Amino acid sequence: MKLHITVLPGDGIGPEVTREAVRCLRAVAEIHGCEFAFTERLIGGAAIEQTGTPLPVETLDACLASDAVLLGAVGAPAFDQLAPHARPEAGLLTLRRALSGYANLRPVVSYESIADCSPLRAEIIAGADVLIVRELLGGLYFGEPRGFTDEAHTESCNTMRYTVAEIERVAHIAFQAAQRRRGKVTSVDKANVLETSQLWRQTVTRVAQDYPQVTLEHQYVDACAMHLMLRPQAFDVILTENLFGDILSDEAAVIAGSLGLLASATVGGAVDLYEPVHGSAPDIAGRGVANPCGAIASAALMLRHTARLEAAAEDIEAALQQVLDAGQRTADLQRGSAQASICTDEFGALVVEALAEIADRRHAYHAV
Ligand code: NAD
Repeated sequence: MKLHITVLPGDGIGPEVTREAVRCLRAVAEIHGCEFAFTERLIGGAAIEQTGTPLPVETLDACLASDAVLLGAVGAPAFDQLAPHARPEAGLLTLRRALSGYANLRPVVSYESIADCSPLRAEIIAGADVLIVRELLGGLYFGEPRGFTDEAHTESCNTMRYTVAEIERVAHIAFQAAQRRRGKVTSVDKANVLETSQLWRQTVTRVAQDYPQVTLEHQYVDACAMHLMLRPQAFDVILTENLFGDILSDEAAVIAGSLGLLASATVGGAVDLYEPVHGSAPDIAGRGVANPCGAIASAALMLRHTARLEAAAEDIEAALQQVLDAGQRTADLQRGSAQASICTDEFGALVVEALAEIADRRHAYHAV
């Protein structure tokens, strides 16, 4: 199979981490005998500098013509004074709308070897492996009417609105993900107070009937926020609406231990978008010290969700774990001066080596 991937390195550490993700994808292509075609385009501050706009037409056209988009990050202090519509971040928001993905998937895994990076106790996060599925195009962030209701700005409103169709489509994504994982969906709402949540709960319960092998539970968002920190192992897939998902997914990042580890996928629209959760990190950009795990894990999500190459996705995840288990850490994962840290490209090279070792072990196993 051939997968057309548009790569948007963007700003700050974006180019540094996407370079390592592409390197891993090239290694996987060789190992698994698949073909990936990469097209690199400008976005964000890098695009403003060269073309005057954060999302040039050539970038959008290339993205819409591809199977998947792999993005680094956008944003740089040099553009912070620009009007909101002209800033690097505006380019990303326009791109997300154009690609029209409605389901944002954010896996959060606790690796035993770096459990000390989380502020939570090791026994609480041991074995935690949660996938948050957040509805991305509806709810309070998009509902109308919205805005300040008087000229003096003494009153304002936002509208939380959902249709059955919007809830159904994201619920199917969550249940299908749970089928491939440990078979449990926790649907999160505030049905004791909000009518949109009552509709959410009724609709999710109905969709669950199509997936008898998946267990469904409902939790109120306030209870979920607490349980996530107390017993994260109890969760498999968390399904929730836009605002609750925004808050819960940032809270869940605490389980992993560093922002640099987290990956995301936005699926369901015209073209799937994959990006690490972190931003352009101007404070460390250009020094080659960024953690590329989030970008590399985003590439694994691309193989799983767009290319349907589950074995290749699992290889990348196993390779990341192998490198971390071997004690290799980028600076953000360092705890104490006794540990030496490695650079972004050294980490990427070790992941590629681990991929080759995993392939060799597989061949040896099948040869026996
Ligand atoms: P950030 O995620 O860039 O950085 C927050 C902190 O985490 C920084 O100390 C940074 O050094 C560290 N960090 C982030 N990623 C890391 C990695 N891979 N390895 C090691 N350390 C890492 O968030 P911020 O500082 O609030 O924002 C910086 C810029 O990024 C802003 O312009 C913001 O608008 C933009 N931003 C972009 C995106 C995106 O492109 N999706 C997301 C968030 C922020």
